Amino acid sequence: MSASADTIFGRILRGEIPCEALYSDDLCLAFRDVNPQAPVHALVIPRQPIAQLAEAGPGDQALLGHLLLVAAKVARQEGLDSWRTVINSGAEAGQTVFHLHVHVIGGRALSWPPG
Ligand code: AMP
Repeated sequence: MSASADTIFGRILRGEIPCEALYSDDLCLAFRDVNPQAPVHALVIPRQPIAQLAEAGPGDQALLGHLLLVAAKVARQEGLDSWRTVINSGAEAGQTVFHLHVHVIGGRALSWPPG
């Protein structure tokens, strides 16, 4: 098992801990963030355990595109016309779970730049 398969998201993918799933397919899973930062806060994660965006390579191109399209699908499914997608890569950027994930955040006005 790779290191990122052992994160909390690996455990969610293996069904060892629950989540509120919003979308699922062969490549990814989307679920609600347990500590939402906005009325809608979802996470889209690949089933393949890539630790962070910095470790993705050319072979992951289609998967990364798929994650973004699923992020948009989930946002629309949640009734959003406008939302933010965020991928934190690395601890200094705020990444706390080292299994690649796309945040989908919306349902309120969002300021820029982020902190
Ligand atoms: P990041 O800081 O970019 O690594 O984001 C990790 C996100 O995972 C945070 O927004 C957490 O609230 C969220 N999170 C951590 N554990 C869980 C969990 N068991 N279910 C859903 N979301 C979680």
